[in-house]
Amino acid sequence: MAGLYIHIPFCASKCTYCDFYSETKRDLLEPFLKALVQEMDLRSDYLPPSSAIETLYFGGGTPSLLCREDFSLLFDAVSRHWTLAADAEITLEANPDDLTPTYLAGLACLPFNRISMGVQSFNDYYLGLLNRRHNARQACQAIAWAQQAGFRNISIDLIYGLPYQTMSDWEADLDTALQTGVQHLSAYGLSYEDGTLLRRLLDDGKLEPVADDDMNAMYRLLRSKTAKRGFEAYEISNFALPGYRSRHNSSYWHGVPYIGLGPAAHSYDGRSRQWNVRSITGYIRSIETGAVPAEREELTVNERYNDFVMVSLRTSEGIDLALLKQHFGYEMMEYCLQCARPFVRDGQLVQANGFLRLSVEGILVSNLVMSELMRV
Ligand code: SF4
Repeated sequence: MAGLYIHIPFCASKCTYCDFYSETKRDLLEPFLKALVQEMDLRSDYLPPSSAIETLYFGGGTPSLLCREDFSLLFDAVSRHWTLAADAEITLEANPDDLTPTYLAGLACLPFNRISMGVQSFNDYYLGLLNRRHNARQACQAIAWAQQAGFRNISIDLIYGLPYQTMSDWEADLDTALQTGVQHLSAYGLSYEDGTLLRRLLDDGKLEPVADDDMNAMYRLLRSKTAKRGFEAYEISNFALPGYRSRHNSSYWHGVPYIGLGPAAHSYDGRSRQWNVRSITGYIRSIETGAVPAEREELTVNERYNDFVMVSLRTSEGIDLALLKQHFGYEMMEYCLQCARPFVRDGQLVQANGFLRLSVEGILVSNLVMSELMRV
């Protein structure tokens, strides 16, 4: 079992909150696609032999800037290097303004079976603040067009805790999202990342962040509204109708090896992490000389334990204590349980049936809980 991630590092414009690696100039698109295929040649043995690709994810950046011919080229190259499982989940991350009926009809002829749309809000004021290129009407229309084109597994991303956002604004966003008929929702509290325009405005005192208590109330509303509509909160920020959990992201959370291709893409082989250079020109130049421009880090036992605890706690199942013991030994499991004890007593962690998981109250202080369970 393995995952494949392809990073498309181009965007038509930059959103004010985003720190993902992407460039707005597209003159290097063609040499980039060539380099991407060459990277597949160079790294086809990265994953354990005979592991079929169960999930393929085109992320970015904005993969929906690519045309049908570009995707055909990439799908051909992928199938020359790896075996795609017959029921592989194949996701395209897309911006709503790119999803016209013609474009969607082209996508429907390719192996994609899942679309993840960066909607972020259904409110034009906040979409403007985030410098998104679409408006609320376009977002609703793109979802409807994707459904008409035959896509039955659609996810949308939303952000809450936007500057000046009220509880009723957030409630309206959630109501609209849940009325669209999508099967999956990812909802993230806004974070002000270094180097972004929103962060600069915050540091200059030009906007006011939402108070922590209000952020928490928005998260509780998210949980209750999604639950009422039958969505499972299977990860802190991810909600799915039964049978529609993101298999690609679930693989990350369950430690399945994956290979990431393209600038800034990360890979994990079970023992080490690797990340490609964050530069399109640096990437192309290096690949042309036959070298993958990446840094690599062997993980220590403590780092693997920390990763395991952190990603497991993000899931609704929590930490599988038997698995923890199997991977890291009895002493590490005892260490984890001992650190967890005060949080279990206070109701932020729940220990039951061999698992240790965050309660909703625990999720609201999850950074603290996770850091207390870490080993340094
Ligand atoms: S949020 Fe998406 S579309 Fe906006 S700049 Fe970042 S990667 Fe590009």
